[in-house]
Amino acid sequence: MAKKVIINGGGWAGCAAALAARKAGAEVELFERTDMLLGTGLVGGIIRNNGRFTATEELIAMGGGDLFQIADKVARHKNIEFPGHKHVTLYDVALIEPAVKKTLLNAGVKLHMHARVKDIDQDGDVITALVAEDYIDKKEIKAPGDSFVDASGTAGPQGNCMKYGNGCVMCIFRCPTFGPRMSITGKAGITEMIGKKADGSVGAMSGSCKLHKDSLSRELAEKLDKTGVAVVPIPQNLQKGAASLKQKACQQYALPEFNDNIILLDTGHAKLMSAYYPLEILRQIPGFENARFEDPYAGGIGNSMRYVGMSPRDNALHVDGLANVFCGGEKAGLLVGHTEAIITGTLAGYNAARTAFGKDPIALPTSLACGDAIAFVKESMQTEEGMTKKYTFSGSVYFERMKRLNLYTTDVKAIEDRVEKAGMTDVFAKAVL
Ligand SMILES: Cc1cc2nc3c(=O)[nH]c(=O)nc-3n(C[C@H](O)[C@H](O)[C@H](O)COP(=O)(O)OP(=O)(O)OC[C@H]3O[C@@H](n4cnc5c(N)ncnc54)[C@H](O)[C@@H]3O)c2cc1C
Repeated sequence: MAKKVIINGGGWAGCAAALAARKAGAEVELFERTDMLLGTGLVGGIIRNNGRFTATEELIAMGGGDLFQIADKVARHKNIEFPGHKHVTLYDVALIEPAVKKTLLNAGVKLHMHARVKDIDQDGDVITALVAEDYIDKKEIKAPGDSFVDASGTAGPQGNCMKYGNGCVMCIFRCPTFGPRMSITGKAGITEMIGKKADGSVGAMSGSCKLHKDSLSRELAEKLDKTGVAVVPIPQNLQKGAASLKQKACQQYALPEFNDNIILLDTGHAKLMSAYYPLEILRQIPGFENARFEDPYAGGIGNSMRYVGMSPRDNALHVDGLANVFCGGEKAGLLVGHTEAIITGTLAGYNAARTAFGKDPIALPTSLACGDAIAFVKESMQTEEGMTKKYTFSGSVYFERMKRLNLYTTDVKAIEDRVEKAGMTDVFAKAVL
């Protein structure tokens, strides 16, 4: 009999979950509150940097690499470097969303766009349906399912961005238009976890934002188009100071080079590797006289209040206290990045399908970077200090651990062998039954 997996949220994690559950043999419906997929991924662009290369190739070897392959196809620059980061791919942020949407539709995923999940039906610890509101067609949709994935992210909602003075990701989330984020976990009454910044205040900022490339000098725009990277020294009197680096969620970009220079990356727009830059200061730097933020619009002040609602979960990404709900992406913990969201989303979607078919969910072996990261983040989140950190394959605490454990390598054959040894080759490519 057909089994159905329902997904809340169409960011990188939700899209990965949808593909994985579909490949595992389930019928899949995905709800996204805005009119575009990819969530905060719409302002992203960086993949395969540092340990993310290894993790990406592990997932490809496990049969779950579809989304990375799409990003590779719409890449503007491959194998480039910028301070602290090697073998980077920059995908085109304008081309990626339609390409992902097409892939999901071709795979047979039923997409409900501009459809915000606003309620759940629950029978004890079992979720039986999601209830959503379609903002454009003005109708309520009820989606009964066998199992569910919470991939609603941890950004916003609008009130939090304002409350914590962080600046918002309104340009991506567009809360006034599409309504606030809502998670299955929260609605079911499970206590969610709240991340902290290094100074102990709630949330975290991303380490980057986007400038309109046409607002930069022609020389800068041409350099970006040609090489993918521009490093522009900041006159000393205009530098923000090392303290501003501590605010970044993406500690992999909190290196002194990011204080001394403006580092721009070409993702179609000009990705400014700074959590924020006051516009009146930025415009004093040669080449930036007409600079304007593309998104987040709050780029002069800050961006995105995130990590305000993570689900407690085990290493199979099964949400504590709910029988048939899994979580992926930022919902699954203090993991930053597209790569991290795709990997956890894939596992969550796959396990949701397994559960729907009456099979036990699986955890990834810790002999793989993907499995080790999921387990390490869960363990780290048990301590107060661990809750102030962010974890990514591309730098900071987790990349250091990867290197220490000999998990980091760019040797694709060695990665394939490692996956095979762990008995995980093509696991996400096969139907569960
Ligand atoms: C400014 C910025 C730049 C970044 N740049 C990069 C980068 O270059 N490289 C990188 O690897 N990472 C980057 N990141 C981090 C990365 O984008 C995120 O960690 C990752 O994409 C999170 O994915 P997610 O799917 O967990 O959540 P999200 O991207 O937050 O997606 C959640 C989705 O759920 C939807 N949703 C929420 N509630 C509901 C509801 N009730 N009903 C229906 N839908 C709902 C939202 O609309 C959204 O689309 C950046 C983040 C930011 C903010």
